[in-house]
Amino acid sequence: MKLLEEKIRSEGKALSETVLKVDGFINHQVDPVLMSEIGKTLASYYKDKGITKVFTIESSGIAPAVYTAMELGVPMVILKKQTSKILTGDVFQTNITSFTKGTSYELTLSQNYIQPDDVVLVIDDFLANGEAATGATRLVEMGGARIAGIAILIEKAFQRGRKRLEDNGYEVRSLARVSKLGRGLIEFTEADL
Ligand code: 5GP
Repeated sequence: MKLLEEKIRSEGKALSETVLKVDGFINHQVDPVLMSEIGKTLASYYKDKGITKVFTIESSGIAPAVYTAMELGVPMVILKKQTSKILTGDVFQTNITSFTKGTSYELTLSQNYIQPDDVVLVIDDFLANGEAATGATRLVEMGGARIAGIAILIEKAFQRGRKRLEDNGYEVRSLARVSKLGRGLIEFTEADL
């Protein structure tokens, strides 16, 4: 997606060879025009896939996910990051190690918001090693539902996330694919959408 790539080129900052900072339009301040365009682009790709719900991981996936859900006319569900296990039986939980923080959390989904006949689109801001997205797929599977695909705003194509998700049988579609990061350097390879 050209618009996202241009925004990353002009406002993104490579903090190291592995971390890209996009606080000015995705992670801290949010650009609603960009998010709305992302919603339209994703909805036009996924519109015929029978999606019944859009899932995302709090908090940076929420903005693009809500615009996409609005375009598709379906609800959006936020997978919550809890610090500890909830011991009641009405949630699904799975442990995730955070790429950026190195800490772990319990990704949590209330059983009220997933049904076995759901067809789920998972959206997240970044794909690095695939921990967060793989956790989301585990929760959908615990609910007995099906994944239609995984949509990512910024994939770091030099990390193993895509391979991991594809090896598990999931289709990944990224709006921007970064092939290389370094001090002051951001290189792209061709994106999916
Ligand atoms: P993964 O779970 O694929 O290893 O990492 C993806 C998650 O880590 C995303 O949800 C995102 O929050 C965070 N993340 C990974 N890499 C980056 C990065 O380069 N920049 C930012 N801002 N977040 C990242």
